[in-house]
Amino acid sequence: MPTTTRIYNFSAGPAVLPLPVLEEAQRHLVSLPGVGMSVMEISHRSKTFEDLLNTAIEDIRALADVPANYRILMLQGGATLQFSMVPMNLLTPGASADYIDTGSWADKAIKEAKKVGPVNIAATTKTDGYTRIPRQEELRLTPGAAYVHITTNNTIEGTEWKTLPEVGEAPLVADTSSDMFSGPIDVGRFGLIYAGAQKNLGPSGVTLVIIREDLLARSVDSLPVMLNYRVHAENNSLYNTPNTFGIYILGLTVKWLRSLGGLPAIARINQRKAAKLYAEIDRTGFYRGTAQKESRSLMNVTFRLPSEELEKLFVKESTAAGLDGLKGHRAVGGMRASIYNAFPEDGVDALVEFMREFERRHG
Ligand SMILES: *Cc1c(COP(=O)(O)O)cnc(C)c1O
Repeated sequence: MPTTTRIYNFSAGPAVLPLPVLEEAQRHLVSLPGVGMSVMEISHRSKTFEDLLNTAIEDIRALADVPANYRILMLQGGATLQFSMVPMNLLTPGASADYIDTGSWADKAIKEAKKVGPVNIAATTKTDGYTRIPRQEELRLTPGAAYVHITTNNTIEGTEWKTLPEVGEAPLVADTSSDMFSGPIDVGRFGLIYAGAQKNLGPSGVTLVIIREDLLARSVDSLPVMLNYRVHAENNSLYNTPNTFGIYILGLTVKWLRSLGGLPAIARINQRKAAKLYAEIDRTGFYRGTAQKESRSLMNVTFRLPSEELEKLFVKESTAAGLDGLKGHRAVGGMRASIYNAFPEDGVDALVEFMREFERRHG
């Protein structure tokens, strides 16, 4: 096939990017207009890059209505480094942190936090195979907790929080790596939000962190400098050389979201895409969704087939048909269709058609 032909990319991450973003980056890769150099070749301290960074931050603030008392940071080390940075900065001496365990990534966050200080598991759905999100009345929150950590979308298990938990006074901290900006987000309800960019925001190597300003006071000077939120905030994410190219692509992606009509508009598209896929999964019983219905993710749609043999065949034939990356995570098995913001609706239609045809032949 011609090298410019694109297939449908259902990968969980790094994942599909908006085509207009890739095309603009391609047009300007060798020379940014008016600059004469690639974005990868200029100083992170240049006016060009600072403008680019500040525009990305302003666009994020506008896109998500981020209140003025929140700082927007672009860090490195992925969401995984946030598993450590969150407790290192926010878990104050003598206090403990509450974690809600809803999947493999939440579990990893818990393991890292335990290395830093006392952790209380306020709820877990592990015994249900992480097929659902806990109900409010299941939460055993600790009075005076330093913070409460949740994972808004469980990328591997295909579940998501439909409404945020009530956590009282404690700052709510959220790993939003796989659903950030998939729809409106009430930033004011959180103390800190983080997201590795490579699922819904851009390429790997940038981590978006949005932190309420008063929490910066918890970052003590004895922390390693690169792990200190206050240092990054005081230096506008330019304490050292950031991922300049990644920030550039993230900025273009946020602009693209704004051009579509912002978060309410992308939410409607995402709901429509997911509804089509779940309707096909539920149509006959040949396919079986792995997440409980009330917890189903709009971003990662997980499902099984009647046998592992059929699942292997499904992966093989769908890949051959230009539907790439549908093999589920080994922890869940079966299939996973990741249909992030940038995933085109006609790709969902193509998958639905493929599923019907596959069932007709093998059902
Ligand atoms: C992918 C993912 C991570 C890990 O992200 P890295 O950037 O690879 O560290 C953490 N949490 C969630 C919810 C994820 O989907």
